Amino acid sequence: RAKADARGSFAFFEAALDAKAQSRRKIEVELRDAIQNDVLRPYYQPLIDLQSGRITGFEALVRWPHAERGMVSPAEFIPVAEDTGLINPLGGLMLRRACMDAAAWPDDVRVAVNLSPLQFRSGNLLSMVTDALKHSGLPPRRLELEITETLLLEKSAQVLATLHALRALGVRISMDDFGTGYSSLSYLRSFPFDKIKIDQSFVRDLGANREAQAIIRSIVSLGKGLGVTITAEGVETEAELSCLRTEGCDEGQGFLFSKARPNAEIVALLAAQRGIDGEDTAL
Ligand code: C2E
Ligand code: MG
Ligand code: MG
Ligand code: MG
Repeated sequence: RAKADARGSFAFFEAALDAKAQSRRKIEVELRDAIQNDVLRPYYQPLIDLQSGRITGFEALVRWPHAERGMVSPAEFIPVAEDTGLINPLGGLMLRRACMDAAAWPDDVRVAVNLSPLQFRSGNLLSMVTDALKHSGLPPRRLELEITETLLLEKSAQVLATLHALRALGVRISMDDFGTGYSSLSYLRSFPFDKIKIDQSFVRDLGANREAQAIIRSIVSLGKGLGVTITAEGVETEAELSCLRTEGCDEGQGFLFSKARPNAEIVALLAAQRGIDGEDTAL
């Protein structure tokens, strides 16, 4: 009897696994198709200078307009893309498209593109970046590449060499989701980068608990010591904004300012910022 029960729950477990595997397989097939048919698009979310209120740049975030399911979230398909290797063509098309779009923006506005650790293992990341810059005419100083701490866990000489080569091109490197990784702070000494993006989980807790503010304060002071820009992700309220300003955070990004929007709207947004420049007003 105990045996039958065990078998029963195992079968249930197996069925659940099966459903999950099937749904991932479906996403894989459809995503491959979407990449081939050039359906994926970058949307752009502004990065705001907290002193002046001006837009310093935009982060490119992949969007998948799906015939039946509407806009599919990257949280659903980025993990599948990473497991199947599709992240390489996806990352390549995001990079090319973001550079092309940004090349038409004002010269002081940057674009940030997310990179997966897998792209560093592909062996062609450097040439992919060089080609995207050359083809679009975007000056390297206007491109930021966002990496996460997991990349640095590998402590790979090849990763380090690629980061140095990218920086030698004049491209900027940002540390995304800072504080959520498991790596030690020691990597900050050996890896070259220009910006720290404080993960939104720390910003979310601001106001609710004093520990979050202490953490923000120490990351800002760490950033000043290292001479890098500090950006806060996930800014949703005026209270969070004012706290971040008090702590001396350089930049903010979040729904308080804007969600990610298609390029056509970005062009209009930047034209509006230009238009009001004469009146010394900011967004
Ligand atoms: P991320 O790079 O940390 O991007 C920030 C995410 O936070 C975006 O989610 C953005 O829409 C969301 N966000 C921005 N402001 C707020 C806010 O005020 N509140 C809240 N709750 N969320 C906010 P999204 O677009 O769903 O992307 C999720 C993640 O997917 C990204 O996190 C990034 O890790 C990954 N991703 C997106 N596009 C790409 C891509 O082209 N390549 C790679 N490798 N990963 C990407
Ligand atoms: Mg990012
Ligand atoms: Mg992030
Ligand atoms: Mg994130």
